[in-house]
Amino acid sequence: MSQESQLDRALTRLEEAAAQLNIDPDVTEKLKYPRETTKTRLLIRMDDGSRKSFLAWRCRYDDTRGPTKGGIRFHPEATIEEVETLAFWMTFKCAVMNLPYGGGKGAVRVDPRQLSNSELERLSRSYMQAFGRIVGPDRDIPAPDVYTNAMIMGWMADEYNQIVGEVTPAVITGKPIALGGSLGRTDATARGGFYLVRHLASELNLARDHTVAIQGFGNAGQFYAQLTAADNNKVVAVSDSNGAIHKPDGLDVAALIAGKQAGRPVATMAEELGASIIGADDLLAVETDLLVPAALEDMITEQNAGLIKAKVILELANGPLTPEADRILNAAGVAVLPDILANAGGVTVSYFEWVQNRQGFYWDLDEIHARLLKIVEREGRAIWNIAKERDITLRSAAYVHALGRLAEAIEAHGTQS
Ligand code: GLU
Repeated sequence: MSQESQLDRALTRLEEAAAQLNIDPDVTEKLKYPRETTKTRLLIRMDDGSRKSFLAWRCRYDDTRGPTKGGIRFHPEATIEEVETLAFWMTFKCAVMNLPYGGGKGAVRVDPRQLSNSELERLSRSYMQAFGRIVGPDRDIPAPDVYTNAMIMGWMADEYNQIVGEVTPAVITGKPIALGGSLGRTDATARGGFYLVRHLASELNLARDHTVAIQGFGNAGQFYAQLTAADNNKVVAVSDSNGAIHKPDGLDVAALIAGKQAGRPVATMAEELGASIIGADDLLAVETDLLVPAALEDMITEQNAGLIKAKVILELANGPLTPEADRILNAAGVAVLPDILANAGGVTVSYFEWVQNRQGFYWDLDEIHARLLKIVEREGRAIWNIAKERDITLRSAAYVHALGRLAEAIEAHGTQS
């Protein structure tokens, strides 16, 4: 792998888009660096009476188009660089969907699976104590990300309310419904990707009943499996961090999800599901029409990209392909539906949650789905058209689309801003 940093690699996409649009250098200069990243150490009392400290960050990358928006990740390998790269992607993702937000992201370097529930609650509350002055419904609005969920958002919302002495549900999204969460938020990332694939299926030469392989079986992967199986497609392979399974005539998705919810790695279910156990990279090599990376960044690299047989990739994870992998797949004629479009259903329904919190009037599920569908199809179609008109990849087209909006906003702020 090259010596370039993760953020440098992400910035190459900005440079490519800027060249396409012949953009003012003032614009790229503004978008090349995070506006502010705050780092702290959270000091937690553990259940055994000892104290432990955890590194934590919050990055507000760019707020030209509105308050910064993005999740908080709890992960043992989180770094400041990763947080800033993810915040950069959020900036472009919100612009792709035309949400009135900039981009942000947060993380704690912790393995939450090693913590008890009460330790996890203390950690979540202390994150809000540390970053309470940075976040705010018109400033910076966190949400769930890898290994964080509605329960954690609920604790953080409650802590924020205690700090400011007011009930402020719009400070964080992905909350439990009882605390002002939105219907349809939990499956929104997968649903946005599912709507996108359905909308562009004929352009992508995907049959109405296609086969799907899913890398990563967390929130996004499980809901994608459920939605696509219910739409008559076959999920032929699935992996998680412990292993992968393969069944060419289709896995029983309901049984797989039930087992996963009960804490079982997918490989432990192979026998009862009539599937074979395969290696992690073998998942990429299975015969499938669609491949859905739904795990972490940089999973598909120049080392394993050549194995891929799928003709379409839907990036439900953030940054699952390195730029080198991108080039290999593009040369092989594989269509990549890029993360900043493919997984933007999550932040879009987060936006709906924020709107509902602010207006104090809540929509039913049909309304959420209809609004999400409309935005995914509108922006997906626009990006498809840009790619065709300019003869560029869908990823470059998504960056061109977002950068046009960002440039307009940066220029509207005035030259002295
Ligand atoms: N963490 C999600 C993402 O990467 C959702 C962010 C949000 O809802 O603000 O898009």
